[in-house]
Amino acid sequence: MKGEEGPGVRGRGPGIGDRLLAWYRQGHRDLPWRRTADPYRIWVSEIMLQQTRAQAVIPYYQRFLARFPTLESLAAAAEEEVLALWSGLGYYSRARNLRRAAQQLAAASVFPQDYGAIRALPGIGDYTAAAIASIAFHRPHAVLDGNVLRVIARVENDPSDVAASSTRERFRAVAQQWLDPENPGLFNQALMELGATVCLPRNPLCLVCPLAEGCRARQEGVASQLPVKLRKAVPVKLDGTLLIVRRGRSVLLRQREATARRMAGFWDLPSPQDLPAARTGEHFGEIRHSITHHHYTLTVMAACVAARSVPGPEFRWCRKEDFAKVPLSTTARKALKLAGIL
Ligand code: SF4
Repeated sequence: MKGEEGPGVRGRGPGIGDRLLAWYRQGHRDLPWRRTADPYRIWVSEIMLQQTRAQAVIPYYQRFLARFPTLESLAAAAEEEVLALWSGLGYYSRARNLRRAAQQLAAASVFPQDYGAIRALPGIGDYTAAAIASIAFHRPHAVLDGNVLRVIARVENDPSDVAASSTRERFRAVAQQWLDPENPGLFNQALMELGATVCLPRNPLCLVCPLAEGCRARQEGVASQLPVKLRKAVPVKLDGTLLIVRRGRSVLLRQREATARRMAGFWDLPSPQDLPAARTGEHFGEIRHSITHHHYTLTVMAACVAARSVPGPEFRWCRKEDFAKVPLSTTARKALKLAGIL
């Protein structure tokens, strides 16, 4: 649809695709995953970018690919090592699914190019399948992420609730209508880049926006009020305590159950419920941690415990220099930093 126009800009000069691509080609952020055409590397970046900002992803992406430069190397890796490299990035099911999908693909010896086949891999939803299919294989599938939703809501001046699936489907059709089928990957990246750097959530930079001329929200002066998102989860506050039990250069860790809803298999600091016989000592302070609408405040205390009172194989003593080799939970990392151990 090169040169074709979206509903909000009909009859007003070059189409959205042309203006966006011209703007993107003039300059954009230099992100490492934009320097490759390797589907494996694009896939890893897209999985890491789910729920995580680009700048935060960069060091993880580089470390991960230095250790797993190919799909085969990831497929052959132990889950614990993959999780250790993901540690701190959050949403760990992403890492598990990535490894599982790598094993499937390595066994099949081929990376699928078709949207449906990519979408069928573990951990890949509509957005990621469209991103990989368009960026790595130039397939004409529009992506719809938070940035794209915001740009569409504003250009169209559409106050519909973007949390509603009906709105998302309608916006997906708009994105697909805007898409330049000759340059789908570039177009998708340009639209997301516009949302990330120009059409900002609070103060959109309309003066430098390539879509300003046809943007209805800008014309009506309502850009900052869009998009509308109605359903908001009620925040839940949770308190707890983490214990730092030391023996020489080692700290006692406890592995989370394989069935745990959050960070299954990761190593955490024990709680007083895990070690009922522990005697607490120094109070290091508190750490805060939020996952979606759950907000944790965790008190971090030193504790000592008799070796015979450490129950079960889920516990292990871990030396300070080995922390990088085990998948440590984010809360354990924060607590160990607070205590000056990490
Ligand atoms: S003109 Fe302003 S509100 Fe409209 S798309 Fe551009 S930055 Fe966003």
